[in-house]
Amino acid sequence: MTARFAIVGSGPSGMYAVDALLKGVPGSRVDVFDRVPTPFGLIRFGVAPDHYKTRNTARQFARTFELDDVRYLGNVEIGRDLSIIELQDNYDAVVLAIGSYHDRGLGIPGEDLAGVYGACAYVGWYNGHPDYRELDPLLDGAGVAVIGIGNVALDVCRILAKTRDEMRGTDISAHALDAIQAAALEQLYMFGRRGPVEGGFTPKELSEVLELERCAVIVDPGQLPDSVEGDLETRIKGVKEKNLALLRQLAAQDKPDKQIKMTVGFYAAPVEILGDRRVEALRMERTRIVDGRAVGSGEFFEVPCCSVVTAIGYQALPPDGVPMNGSVVANQRGHVADNLYVVGWAKRGPTGTIPTNGPDSRDTVEVLIDNLESTGKPGGGAIDKLLAERGVRVVDYAGYKKISAAEIARAPEGHPQEKFTRIDEMLALLDGA
Ligand SMILES: Cc1cc2nc3c(=O)[nH]c(=O)nc-3n(C[C@H](O)[C@H](O)[C@H](O)COP(=O)(O)OP(=O)(O)OC[C@H]3O[C@@H](n4cnc5c(N)ncnc54)[C@H](O)[C@@H]3O)c2cc1C
Repeated sequence: MTARFAIVGSGPSGMYAVDALLKGVPGSRVDVFDRVPTPFGLIRFGVAPDHYKTRNTARQFARTFELDDVRYLGNVEIGRDLSIIELQDNYDAVVLAIGSYHDRGLGIPGEDLAGVYGACAYVGWYNGHPDYRELDPLLDGAGVAVIGIGNVALDVCRILAKTRDEMRGTDISAHALDAIQAAALEQLYMFGRRGPVEGGFTPKELSEVLELERCAVIVDPGQLPDSVEGDLETRIKGVKEKNLALLRQLAAQDKPDKQIKMTVGFYAAPVEILGDRRVEALRMERTRIVDGRAVGSGEFFEVPCCSVVTAIGYQALPPDGVPMNGSVVANQRGHVADNLYVVGWAKRGPTGTIPTNGPDSRDTVEVLIDNLESTGKPGGGAIDKLLAERGVRVVDYAGYKKISAAEIARAPEGHPQEKFTRIDEMLALLDGA
């Protein structure tokens, strides 16, 4: 039996699902939709620009798009240009691979002030995501506070801390690099309500702030435990021990007089963002861990800052009609309903690296194949007709390759590419304008 499949989202989980479907049901045809013209999800828009080599993972996925049985339909948003039902009616099975990269709020007073940004928006801004091209974050004061103690929070601090020279070889978007370099930053804060052992960062990311040209990292040695306690899996314990050793190294480092200080503060929870129309300061409460939970101690402090970036949690935002369970799509081993499935961050939440999505997608595809029946649904032809009737401008894989080549050709000296950050610009390029 062969079949016709639709994948919604061309990030890692969607691309691993395509590979698994082609292996599991040889001879099938797969259409991959993405709401932006360019494929590969957070490989392009999440991975930090100074981790440029990580973007090479996309090469493996690019090969999939070269296959005759796989089509890319970029610039098509499911829920806007086509409904989920229309996909379910036209394909044997539909796989949601939409990620879960939408910011969750802090739920504290002052959150609506100008100068408060979610990490998705902030990271999207410096990585050239068209949704955040005009974010123009406030960087006109001395301090920026980042809430969260995971790799995303570290990425944001590091990108703000690096000099233009340190950003050579990266593909940070020029508008963001210029804004960051023009800012007179002196103080970055990174706060977590829990302790160093609970921090979600990994040793690689932590070691990258050991030697920053213009930024000294401040860690209070009094906040570091002597050892990693608790009943942890050996691998996780090893990671935590490495983190602790690196934090000790940071705490013990000489602090030469550098332009920027980055204070990593544990056991501190935000309670209010202060300011008149825009952020002026962040009010924090010190916490204690009681029965594994961080609880307020009643001791407060304030830090002055011009903006606050929250990197505390993300949620999936599926098209209408898709059931949710908390912040992810409701599913049983990836099965959502009828011929609808889910993979990746939208299925299991925002955890894991790019390769983590491989086994996860294969698991969903196994369930999908067990349920698969021959339906004779028309697949892409009927969908192409609908898109044409609606005047949707689809960007195919050849179109993406043209965009990508132009991005490399227009790279500023010392940088590998300069992404197009506006959809209009990409379409104009394809129109030969
Ligand atoms: C800031 C950040 C940095 C990271 N850095 C690294 C790193 O250095 N190394 C590493 O291994 N991992 C890293 N990760 C993790 C990695 O990016 C994720 O594991 C992975 O991207 C999750 O894949 P996904 O396919 O589930 O979601 P995503 O990558 O988010 O892909 C979802 C895709 O779905 C599309 N989409 C969403 N809704 C619709 C819709 N309605 N219609 C059509 N298309 C839609 C989106 O445009 C997107 O292309 C990072 C994550 C973040 C947030």
